[in-house]
Amino acid sequence: MEKQAYGIDLHLHTTSSDGTRTVDETIHDAMEFGLAHIAITDHNQFAIEEPINYLGLEIIPGAEFSTSYITDSGRLLEVHVVGLFFHGVPRTLQQIFRKIPQQRKHYLDAIITKLNYLGISISYEELLNTFPDSNQIGRRHIAEILVKKNYADSITDAFDRIIGNRSPYWVDSTKYMKYMSLKECVEKICKNGGFPILAHPYHYHCTDEEVLKIVKDFKEYTKDCPAGMEVYYSKYDEEHRKELLKIANDFGLYPSAASDRHAPKDPFERGEENLLEAMKEAVLKGKNTK
Ligand SMILES: [Zn+2]
Repeated sequence: MEKQAYGIDLHLHTTSSDGTRTVDETIHDAMEFGLAHIAITDHNQFAIEEPINYLGLEIIPGAEFSTSYITDSGRLLEVHVVGLFFHGVPRTLQQIFRKIPQQRKHYLDAIITKLNYLGISISYEELLNTFPDSNQIGRRHIAEILVKKNYADSITDAFDRIIGNRSPYWVDSTKYMKYMSLKECVEKICKNGGFPILAHPYHYHCTDEEVLKIVKDFKEYTKDCPAGMEVYYSKYDEEHRKELLKIANDFGLYPSAASDRHAPKDPFERGEENLLEAMKEAVLKGKNTK
């Protein structure tokens, strides 16, 4: 007998952004893994706009919003928010990411110009031709080409030496990508009947104190709208999960389970289903109804 599907994973990427699996393939993978509820949350993109129920698997539409946030010490951070739309993405919100492809092209052009200057042969057309299925070409794709053409030994090497944030030839994306503020993003998600979740709180190169401030501000921006925070995140160990659960409880945020899966090599997360039930109930009772 087949095992009953169980569990939630509310943060998955597909080829609609920088993932390597299409939406259909991701759904297939999740079924094979035996999950009961997933969310498709591509970077700044709604890969699906309506909820789907496929052979008992619930697929929730959403996106991972890039936002800008300024710390107390004046540092500009790119903070990510997973927005889930249990009842579908409202039409008014579907246009929200329209300026991003153009900004992204300018950003990639700047990286390519720098690489060309270094004597590395790579072009924008080459990127498009090498990854025809990707709707959102990024540095990860550039790194793959650098490896293929022997300019780097591995993806990690390409990031470390050539295009990563700490490499000498880093191009600052914030010069090109103008994201909305964390506050504006959270308010937009709430106003449109969505459920905002602060993504991977330990990913922003922040001190513990700064992390707490981000969480505090995030909670404040949600006002009366129910909101969550990723606690059961695939790359965080037990200790980190415990800390995050405490923070989520302290601030009245709903804990979420998230793998942030980009490719088959990335494991799914299997979170408890009552976490998702609590979120849905909160949205029904909350003031952020459409
Ligand atoms: Zn992600």
